[in-house]
Amino acid sequence: MICVSLGRTRHSAMRQGHQQLAEQKAELVELRVDWLRKRPDIGSLLKDRPTPVVVTCRRPEDKGLWKGDEEQRRAVLREAIIAGAEYVDIEIDIAQSIPRYGKTKRIISYHNFDETPIELYDIYHKLAQGDPDIIKIVTMANAPSDNVRVLEMLRAADVPTVAFCMGEFGTISRILCGQRGAPFTYAGFSSEREMAPGQLTYAETRNLYRFNKITPQTKIFGVIGDPIAHSLSPLLHNTAFRKTGFDGVYLPLRIPADFLAETLDEFEKLDISGYSVTIPHKEEVLDFANVPDLQVDLIGAANTLFKRDGAWQATNTDFDAISETIANALSLDTNTKPQLTGKRVLILGAGGVARAAVAAMQQCGAVVVVTNRSKDRAKTLAQELDCLQIAWANRGSEMCDILINCTSVGMHPKVDESPYEQHWLRESMLVFDTVYTPENTMLLKHARQRDCTTATGLEMFVRQAARQFNLFTGLEAPVEYMMETLRRYLSAAR
Ligand code: NAP
Repeated sequence: MICVSLGRTRHSAMRQGHQQLAEQKAELVELRVDWLRKRPDIGSLLKDRPTPVVVTCRRPEDKGLWKGDEEQRRAVLREAIIAGAEYVDIEIDIAQSIPRYGKTKRIISYHNFDETPIELYDIYHKLAQGDPDIIKIVTMANAPSDNVRVLEMLRAADVPTVAFCMGEFGTISRILCGQRGAPFTYAGFSSEREMAPGQLTYAETRNLYRFNKITPQTKIFGVIGDPIAHSLSPLLHNTAFRKTGFDGVYLPLRIPADFLAETLDEFEKLDISGYSVTIPHKEEVLDFANVPDLQVDLIGAANTLFKRDGAWQATNTDFDAISETIANALSLDTNTKPQLTGKRVLILGAGGVARAAVAAMQQCGAVVVVTNRSKDRAKTLAQELDCLQIAWANRGSEMCDILINCTSVGMHPKVDESPYEQHWLRESMLVFDTVYTPENTMLLKHARQRDCTTATGLEMFVRQAARQFNLFTGLEAPVEYMMETLRRYLSAAR
């Protein structure tokens, strides 16, 4: 079950929001009465309420907005109990002064906005002394592993307990707490009014992560990187899980560079089945995988970790995604490598994606030429992957059949830029831009105007995720559906 926190400054807006949430099938709503500008009229808020409620009146030291004095606040909580609220949130230090009455259930709570303390079990036992129906422990995660400690404590709890972490590191425990026995998690009504740091919205919790469908059997996956908040991978993978009926959940897992080894070790306790890997971990993550992989050896970086027979294996699905995208643009079978013998491919850029493109095109038999703004980087890449290299200034005079942009030029917000002049493009060329925000980059617009064949970064992005999906689940990915979902999302976000 998801408890949706609702804070409004006026009673009428609070009632209206509550009604809206009921229409959106919310099963439990937390009325944050400390948000109200006037003294809470509990009777009017609870009369004919459309869903069960938790009444919470948070004081300023717990990041609440209550402006009255402490005695008035406790009076509001007692009133809510007398009025028959389903739950009342009572902080542990006032538990003795708010007596149990009627059917109202007591949520005895502890919040820590600074850290996840070492003594979590002591805190749990102290809360258990406060006559709880439900214990609530919410702490700030300062490292991803804080989530693991909270979830471990939750698994051991014998009183029904809601426990998770706040902050950007905390998403994983907000979503997985149900799997470890929490009777519900908390979510926000909308992203504009965040009640607690890192809180997810009701829509995200219910529709994207499908909190209510997660069981102890649900397999856990995620994308690791930093930053990660805007990653589109959770959307793609969770959509594919839902479409195929696979029992899995896929989470954004922010892991700063210095925390990688420690976090992956700790996350073993959560029984995670697979990771997508993004910047800055694509190289360091190889230390964690114990099975060699051809693609990874060629590129020197991985974008996927998956488990086979209990061992972590690394691979790079960008490699196959690039070949598949080219094959599709040339109307060839995407299940076999396109034969590009005798073709000349010019690759712009020398970063991680360029490395994957060079290796993939070489495997298809093409002659690969690389060019990069910083010459030294191109030189190193050309030496390591044994391809040709030309100066960045000369890229327009290179006669190529396929042009692949692996630089970030043209990416949002600088959408009017292109790494290649329009008059350098020829009709016979295939132009592939790996940039996918926006999908129709300036380079691709120019290429279409010159009647070139084109391929998009959005297709590559979906295909690399589809390959991961296949490794994670053993199922065929719904590629077209994933593509449609991503296009719809990106056009709505514009
Ligand atoms: P990276 O390692 O940071 O490399 C960035 C590349 O862009 C470098 O070659 C850099 O040249 C070049 N560059 C940046 N600004 C430039 C400018 N103003 N003029 C010329 N060159 C410039 O990044 P990456 O991981 O390889 O990713 C590169 C791009 O690929 C991303 O921006 C993204 O749009 C795209 N991408 C697509 C997918 C997909 O699935 N479709 C996945 C990941 C990334 P210097 O070496 O001179 O700095």
